[in-house]
Amino acid sequence: MPDSASSPAPIAFIGLGQMGLPMVRRLIAAGFTVRGADPAEAPRQALVEAGGLAFADAKEAAEGAGILITMLPNGRIVRDVLLGAGAAGALAKGALVIDMSSSAPTDTVSLAADLVPLGLPLIDAPVSGGVKRAIDGSLAIMAGGPAEAVERARPVLAAMGKSIFATGPIGSGHAMKALNNYVSAAGLVAACEALLVGGRFGLAPETIVDVLNASTGRNNSTEVKMKPFVISEAFNSGFSLALMAKDLRIAADLADHLELPLPQIQSVATLWEAAKCGLGAQADHTEIHRHLQALAASGPRG
Ligand code: NAD
Repeated sequence: MPDSASSPAPIAFIGLGQMGLPMVRRLIAAGFTVRGADPAEAPRQALVEAGGLAFADAKEAAEGAGILITMLPNGRIVRDVLLGAGAAGALAKGALVIDMSSSAPTDTVSLAADLVPLGLPLIDAPVSGGVKRAIDGSLAIMAGGPAEAVERARPVLAAMGKSIFATGPIGSGHAMKALNNYVSAAGLVAACEALLVGGRFGLAPETIVDVLNASTGRNNSTEVKMKPFVISEAFNSGFSLALMAKDLRIAADLADHLELPLPQIQSVATLWEAAKCGLGAQADHTEIHRHLQALAASGPRG
């Protein structure tokens, strides 16, 4: 292992998807050297065009890096990349690992413990704001882990996000992220239900959204999702329904784990899992409206 203190070691960035690629572009624009990895060829090509080095294999990308960032579908894949595929072993001595994916907090706690013998500190630093804010570098970032590791990551995180919160111990960022997405998903479902009920009563969809946005029913979905993605039927927000369903299952399981029998967090998770089964893994999360529309069309309960 090369020593990370002797030279400005590059950043390895694993997962160049909807979020990862624009985040990497921000890092390159801020002057960091990035070695990215993704099995898909198109984002690798885009990374090279942006001035980075691209690899199909995560272990190769990790070679000699002083910081490794993961932006992957879930914590199981993060573990596979680091320990199964051997990326952790290829890093520079004392390198910092930052999981920016939306992973399950309990998995993160056990991954941190498994990286200790390798001398690799881990922080969880998931993000909120979607593709738009990944592109303009204004993501909200919630960072869990030892304070000195979070401070070490801060200049790198600042290239990708505007609000960086130190949330507490390892896993707390991932817990916060799942809870944020629970609140966000519940708000989107409520807005879609209002559209369906109001629409059946004769209210115009744009009127419903305009009134909500000027009233106490306003939320992020009414402000930034209903018109461009739902009412337009474009359904192209860039955040998949399957990933949202995963986040909601993490939030509901966390409530279970903490022995909190709360009704809505469970029912929202179940609703999104049913939507994923009905609409398929490729559906955009705003297509939850189509799932609710189908339920509404199935007629009165009975
Ligand atoms: P995505 O599916 O677009 O990207 C994931 C990328 O990981 C893909 O390009 C895939 O090829 C790559 N990948 C999968 N396995 C790999 C491996 N073993 N090695 C290297 N690369 C691998 O997903 P996304 O929308 O970019 O989301 C990434 C993470 O960020 C998820 O945890 C998601 O929940 C979270 N997130 C997404 C959004 C959003 O708006 N899309 C917002 C906030 C957080």
